[in-house]
Parts: sequence; C-alpha cells; structure tokens
Amino acid sequence: MRRPFIAGNWKMNLSRDDAQSLATELAAELSAAPDCDIAVCPPFVYLETVRTALGESCIALGAQNMYPQPSGAFTGETSPTMLLDLGCQYVILGHSERRHILGETDDQIFGKVTSAIAAGLKPIVCVGETLEERQSDQTASVIQQQFEGSISGLDESQFEKVTIAYEPVWAIGTGEVATPDQAEAVHADLRTLIQTRYNTQLADSVRIQYGGSVKPGNVTELMAQPNIDGALVGGASLAADSFLGIVRGALDH
Ligand code: PEP
Repeated sequence: MRRPFIAGNWKMNLSRDDAQSLATELAAELSAAPDCDIAVCPPFVYLETVRTALGESCIALGAQNMYPQPSGAFTGETSPTMLLDLGCQYVILGHSERRHILGETDDQIFGKVTSAIAAGLKPIVCVGETLEERQSDQTASVIQQQFEGSISGLDESQFEKVTIAYEPVWAIGTGEVATPDQAEAVHADLRTLIQTRYNTQLADSVRIQYGGSVKPGNVTELMAQPNIDGALVGGASLAADSFLGIVRGALDH
C-alpha cells in the first residue's frame, strides 16, 4: 500500500503575512496526522516563516527549486544544504513552469535531482506533456523521454527517495483537469517504465502524484485510480479550505 501524498505548490504567490496565516490555519486543522503525507512548498523567502507557523503539525516543508551545488559563487541561487537548514524535507524539481518558462533541460533537472538526494532532500520530480504533444499523440514518448532524462539515471537506492508528479501542462492552472482515465493511463505507463528500468518492487512502491487543476471536487475520483497516489496542487493550495478539502477528499476514495 502506498501512503497518499498531497503537496501544495504555492508558486510565486502570497505575502509573508498571508503565508504565515495559511500555514497557521493548516497546522491547526492538521495537528493530528491524517493517514497521508502532506507538504507545503512556499517561495524561498517565506520558508522560515512557514516552518515556524507549521510548528509540530504533521505538515512537512518543501521548496520549489534549488541549485545543484552545496555552496559557492552562484549569485541568486539556493543550495540543497540551505533548504535542509531551513527545515525542508522536499523539493519540487522540473516543474513545467521551470521547464517551459525558465528553459530547464532534462540534464539540468537530473543534476538537481541527484544533488537533492545526496544532500538528504526528497525530490518531487515533475513530468508532463503540452497540449500540442497530447494532440499529436506524443504523450507516452514525451513522458518516457522526461523519465529517462530526468530520473532514470538514478540508482535504485537514490530512486527510492523520489516522488514523481505527472502534471500535464495543459491542465496546470487552466481549470481543465485530466480525466481520471487519462491520468491513470500515464501513471500506469510510468510504473511500467520504472519496472522495466528497475524492478517490480520499486515500481510498486514509488508514489506518483497527479497535478493539474486538482480541487476538492475532483480529487476523490482521481485518487480512486489504482496508480494515482496523491496530488501536487497549485491554485487550490493557496486557501486553507480548498487544500484541506483536497486532503479530506484524497482520503475518501
Ligand atoms: C502545479 O503548478 O503544480 C499545479 C498543479 O497547479 P494547479 O493545481 O493550479 O493546476
């Protein structure tokens, strides 16, 4: 049995006060751990504020990116050791906004994934096709290419630390959610890729989140799919009601 994992990606949103209030409200509601893992990933500059507000709750802290070196002359960047220092357990890597807006390549993402794991962080590695790629029947090949480029160079013990997030680019922030069948098909493909590259035990144990316009109203049917183990949530993670609704809905299936 894979334990469900719901993570909120706050992206470049909220003021410091808003971030503190949201984390405080989530911590109060989730003081007793539900039967799932929960994380929030605020902007770098609010990590410390949010860590303090989360207190002893069951909510883990994650970052949205990092630079793959422990320290040095890398102006403007943030290292995995700095994230650990601030209490992060997770880091989102290869989000489609970084791939498509910032031009991150699979090679760069793989470097970050390796470095995150070496430092002791657990990466949430995102893969997903664009609308054009889906419409031209390239979904499976794009996912395979991103899996091979960003993840499958890891050895087995490194791979155990990874969560994969399948996030179709056309469903991110658009209100258009993949149908449970569409998402399940890609999740099942990913599990086959893991089984082929590694082994059945690893394929059965790695968690694969779905991301793309997840809401309290659609999470239960997504989570009812055999290969969907959680959600990476953008917009709906910015308000306590909707994020808590997603956590409850994820446990309802
Ligand atoms: C995301 O950015 O990871 C995401 C899934 O966003 P949204 O939930 O807003 O579609």
